[in-house]
Amino acid sequence: MKITDFPNDIQPFLIPKLAGALQYRCLGCGREHPIETLLYTCPKCGHVLLLVDKTFNRLKSIPSEMWHKIFDYRRMLNIPALKGIYRYHEFLGPAIPLDSIVYLGEGHTPLVEANSALSQRVGIKFYFKNDGQNPSASFKDRGMASALSYIHYLVKQGFVSDLLAICASTGDTSAAAALYAAYLQPHIKSAVLLPHKKVTPQQLSQPLGSGAAVFEIPGVFDDCMKVVEALSEQYHVALLNSKNAWRILGQESYSYEISQDFDYDMRKKVIVLPIGNAGNITAVLNGFIKFYQTGIIMDLPKIVGVQSEHANPVFRYYQEPDGNKRKFEPVHVSPSVAQAAMIGNPVSMPRVIHLVDQYNTLSARQNVFFMEVDEQSIMDWELLANRNGHIACTHGGESLAGLAKAIDNQFVHQDEVAIVDSTAHALKFSGFQEMYFNDSFPAEFKVKPVPELVNAPVYVHPQDLEDVPAPGQPLNQKALKQFVRRISDEIASVLALRKIDETT
Ligand SMILES: *Cc1c(COP(=O)(O)O)cnc(C)c1O
Ligand SMILES: [Zn+2]
Repeated sequence: MKITDFPNDIQPFLIPKLAGALQYRCLGCGREHPIETLLYTCPKCGHVLLLVDKTFNRLKSIPSEMWHKIFDYRRMLNIPALKGIYRYHEFLGPAIPLDSIVYLGEGHTPLVEANSALSQRVGIKFYFKNDGQNPSASFKDRGMASALSYIHYLVKQGFVSDLLAICASTGDTSAAAALYAAYLQPHIKSAVLLPHKKVTPQQLSQPLGSGAAVFEIPGVFDDCMKVVEALSEQYHVALLNSKNAWRILGQESYSYEISQDFDYDMRKKVIVLPIGNAGNITAVLNGFIKFYQTGIIMDLPKIVGVQSEHANPVFRYYQEPDGNKRKFEPVHVSPSVAQAAMIGNPVSMPRVIHLVDQYNTLSARQNVFFMEVDEQSIMDWELLANRNGHIACTHGGESLAGLAKAIDNQFVHQDEVAIVDSTAHALKFSGFQEMYFNDSFPAEFKVKPVPELVNAPVYVHPQDLEDVPAPGQPLNQKALKQFVRRISDEIASVLALRKIDETT
């Protein structure tokens, strides 16, 4: 729809204006730093940063009904820069001009309601939000769209040129980083560091295909992260891990979309998401807080963060009920099917601690919960979900397993509605499905297939059927007829099909 076709009162708000005063704020010493230089940690004290808008309060002067209309009407605009996460420009990047925005189709991923069989199994009505339907097939695209739009802005302003973007990754960050960097050729090149053999072949193929320099390092993600941190401290590179506060900002769009998709009614809603490096939960918490503070939503939804037993430092931290006695201890991870969350020392832990406190305080009750699930339940729930029409990845399975457990433990109740984050596409992690179906999981996963969930292809080639087609070697008519009859009879017998009654 054209601008002039919108109602008059909404027209001045449709195209966001450059405004706001974004600054990095240090969560350690509280100092603020200008955004014209790329920062990942506080130059004074070394703590992680969050981006804050110094003029955020100006957003509160717009009535909530007006905000609802602004976002709802923006849905109808055909301006690429506003088609993705920047529908919420005022909240995500008020200092980023529209012509710097990189839009590759990210955001606005579907909410798919669970059918009645699956919601009965789980115990409540719920939806998957399929973040695997982003361009590189994971939610990481939200943060990359933000980080690369910002870098694009710096390039256009002449603040930087010829940038090498670098990240450590459990697979999906590198896929997203390489994709967005490839779009900004030749100004930006990318290099990614992956733990050797700890990413799936599909994930490895992504940065390779996008033309990134790909390095495989012995060890796990936490080791790669240390190397990338050393590189970013000593060389001119742009760090694209979620330590980079611009990533967090873009990922807040997840909360904004959920708010909008439920017509801004967050009562009795529960958001369930997996935790790895804890960037996602940081963003989701911050996003809901910002919409709550501006009156766009009137209630803060319940948040349930889920970790595997094999990589559970955040869960362990919150096991201690007394906030004053909690002490963060990194853990050594063991192999997990939720491989993209296999992280023992989450970079965003200080942000989580800060925001969980703020979130619970604003909610005036405990409103953030942490669950731990085993590998078996992650696989079982993933496969069960997908047998009911979903495309959940193992992390989607982890979220769902966490929801089921939270209901069992009465952290979540039957009158609530859950939104379960499937953070990537099932296809990226199909190797784990294969191990499940073949019962070939290495012992340390402790996963045994449940027979009802196992599936395998049936090869149909009757032993006495000699003439079968092959590529470039078609059968003659008679042999083809014979082939089709024998094979179809065999399939019909396996499926116990009933013959069409020839007399009717
Ligand atoms: C990165 C990732 C996670 C973990 O998210 P964090 O922000 O690191 O907590 C979970 N699932 C998938 C598919 C991911 O790629
Ligand atoms: Zn500081």
